[in-house]
Amino acid sequence: MNEHDSEKVAGVLLARGYRQVESVEAANVILYNTCSIREKAAQKVYSRLGEYRFTQKEGQVIGVLGCLAQQEGERIFTRAPWVSLVCGSASYRKLPQMIAELEAGNRRVTGLETDTDETFETELTRRDNPWRAYLTIIEGCDKTCSYCVVPFTRGPERSRASASILEEVRQLADVGYTEVTLLGQTVNSYADPSARRMRFSELLVAVAEVAGIRRVRFTTSHPRDFGKDIVEAIEAVPGICEHVHLPVQSGSTRILKAMARTYTREEYIEKIELVRASKRLISLTSDLIVGFPGETEKDFEETLSLLDLAQYDGAFSFKYSPRPNTPSLKLGDAIPEEEKARRLAILNEKQREIQRLRNEGLAGQVFEVMVEGKSKRERQWSGHTSSNKVMNFTSRVEESLGDYVQVRVTGATPNSLVGDVVGE
Ligand code: SAM
Ligand code: SF4
Repeated sequence: MNEHDSEKVAGVLLARGYRQVESVEAANVILYNTCSIREKAAQKVYSRLGEYRFTQKEGQVIGVLGCLAQQEGERIFTRAPWVSLVCGSASYRKLPQMIAELEAGNRRVTGLETDTDETFETELTRRDNPWRAYLTIIEGCDKTCSYCVVPFTRGPERSRASASILEEVRQLADVGYTEVTLLGQTVNSYADPSARRMRFSELLVAVAEVAGIRRVRFTTSHPRDFGKDIVEAIEAVPGICEHVHLPVQSGSTRILKAMARTYTREEYIEKIELVRASKRLISLTSDLIVGFPGETEKDFEETLSLLDLAQYDGAFSFKYSPRPNTPSLKLGDAIPEEEKARRLAILNEKQREIQRLRNEGLAGQVFEVMVEGKSKRERQWSGHTSSNKVMNFTSRVEESLGDYVQVRVTGATPNSLVGDVVGE
């Protein structure tokens, strides 16, 4: 989502006549997009800002965007007085105006409001990839997970009108994009604000039906709003990718309750059974947090047993990181860092083994792959399957970036598949 926000901001600047340059030194304006989801990400920002201070040229504007900008606000000007713009993502719609103020000679500008029902609409987005496009359909978050800064930094949930989304998809298809990823913190909580009242699953189908679009992805889905209609849409429409990212966070109902995730272990299992019962082989991925305050060894074992049950195709796992303004900050029973690290290592090892076995089980099968990368090694290419697995494969063709090819799996690692193009 941050990558796509940067693409939109770059589009706004380009439309004002700015030009992109290759290095920080060559720039007159640097807009640094930030993350504050975990403490480590937030710390990196100040160390990077410190580096900019030493390379700053006379008149060079340095701005800070994103969640850390929202979280720290004007404190950034105190800690890093060489910064002249601070803007959180909920205020990006005001960016053109803020940039105009800087151009007019204002020394410092801020955009820190989050009480908005507007989205950052821009047809000017400058996308990095010529075939795969991100597209935000819902901004902010109304869930209140007790560990999470996002509701504070990205503001309330607000959805874009379905007609505006579909128009953007048509424009993308017209200029050659074949894959779109619909984005939202809780993408499946999408609520069409227009009279059309399109459901999320209907929107998926409508996007897949746009001429020229071959693949539709969506992330991240919240388990509470995940229903059978989404699985049915994937089953019915081949263009909707066979992948669901459905973060569980913990396998213990007790911890899920303390996290305010709004579902129990059993309710979550019912959701993944919907996915696993599908006629299409839908890959399932997750996010997990270990060491939440009060997490006992028994709670952690429940997370491990959930991994056995869920058989995820991939997972992002994190040590719990206390964040400002979050309800869980006030909880006692902090788990020591070394214990969090121990649990994370055990969890990662177990998940790695699950992925290795799952991927090895795909040997001999044929998957359609979008060709996205060419290795330095001769005839070696890479891309993703519809199920979002990385495929490294051999092919004799000279140029096929952006094409779709059929690849037979000949080998596997925990994080990728290996194969050969069929029919060569
Ligand atoms: N909205 C998405 C969801 O609910 O699944 C993703 C939110 S966040 C950008 C991505 C992941 O970061 C979360 O799913 C969670 O696992 C992790 N995360 C969020 N806050 C965290 C914290 N305070 N400490 C550790 N991990 C955290
Ligand atoms: Fe954060 Fe929970 Fe919202 Fe995801 S659903 S962004 S974890 S508050």
